[in-house]
Amino acid sequence: MKGFEYLQEELDSMKAEGIFRSLVPLESDQGAKVVINGKEVIQLSSNNYLGLTTHPKMKQAAIEAVEKYGAGTGSVRTIAGTFSLHEEFEKKLAEFKHTEATLVLQSGFTANQAILSSILTKEDVVISDELNHASIIDGIRLTKAARKIYKHVDLKSLEEALKESGDYRKRLVVTDGVFSMDGNIAPLPEIVELCEKYDALVMVDDAHASGVLGRNGRGTVDHFDLNGRVHIQVGTLSKAIGVLGGYVASTQSVRDYLIHKGRPFLFSTSHPPAVTAACSAAIDVLLEEPELIDRLWENTKFFKKGLQNLGFDTGRSDTPVTPVVVGDEAKAHQLSDKLLEYGVFAQGIAFPTVAKGQARVRTIVTAEHTKEVLQEALDAFEKAGKELNII
Ligand code: PMP
Repeated sequence: MKGFEYLQEELDSMKAEGIFRSLVPLESDQGAKVVINGKEVIQLSSNNYLGLTTHPKMKQAAIEAVEKYGAGTGSVRTIAGTFSLHEEFEKKLAEFKHTEATLVLQSGFTANQAILSSILTKEDVVISDELNHASIIDGIRLTKAARKIYKHVDLKSLEEALKESGDYRKRLVVTDGVFSMDGNIAPLPEIVELCEKYDALVMVDDAHASGVLGRNGRGTVDHFDLNGRVHIQVGTLSKAIGVLGGYVASTQSVRDYLIHKGRPFLFSTSHPPAVTAACSAAIDVLLEEPELIDRLWENTKFFKKGLQNLGFDTGRSDTPVTPVVVGDEAKAHQLSDKLLEYGVFAQGIAFPTVAKGQARVRTIVTAEHTKEVLQEALDAFEKAGKELNII
């Protein structure tokens, strides 16, 4: 069909630059090893931190929910698509997170869009870390509030922004709990102190900390013992929780407000019963099997140290998100391609996901990897890294 030549031109120049990427379909379940193009390779690119995508209890819960409630819900939550399952899960999640209430949305992305676009008006200001996730950036684009961006995890820059914001009705400071491309943890205690000093609200996006940091994986707020001092926590059910969805954990009034004003909540159909039942079983798994989180962190230390010993630049990561920073975009993709050839699936990440000149291969180990498998992966990194003159 004619009409899209202008798009194809741009795609062709991306191909010429070596930065065009095809999707990589998995031919297996999402585990420590996956099948790609008929070949079994080590998975180092998923967010399946605890291996829950295939946890037997969660699969069983999903199967039972399908049998009992069917495959879909047939409506948005506010019309006919709220099942008792949804509300029971939200109560359980609130208890787990030590917050008054939670509201589950279709994804972490839409959770950020819903909260940011609904609770602020043009009388307010939102103050955001420059490296916050795209869903926060897009959420902010949807508000009529004034915006200020502070330098990455820079408390001086944050304080300046707070000082300049005295005239607004509400100041909302937003940060990722764990930054998704660098794996560093936000200095939340200091951020909270500044917000208390300047009477600002604090919001944390804990997508990469849920199931990873804090007691039983309760997230960065719990990790830093800040329960009750962070106004809004956004989490995802799509990463360590192993299924799909996002949530806002906050007060009952925030939940009620989102039900009335959160556009992604209002206008998009609710999660299928199997999704909610599996997420609910995941909370039980987090409470019953804390050893999964211990294993995740052991594997993280082993693998990160291994990469560093080989001479790779792993940036400022202090979590399982471990980037191998290469700089040049095409080179990052070459490294990723070579790794796949040597049996490791680790995706290259480039602009606009990270800044230009900061291209990388991002790795995430899971609780499911064995030391032997991780050593195999390190051997592949060594071979590929040397061939490409990265180390
Ligand atoms: N916030 C952060 C920090 C993320 O890394 C992601 C996932 N890419 C999201 C939000 C979106 O979560 P989801 O995949 O559930 O939409």
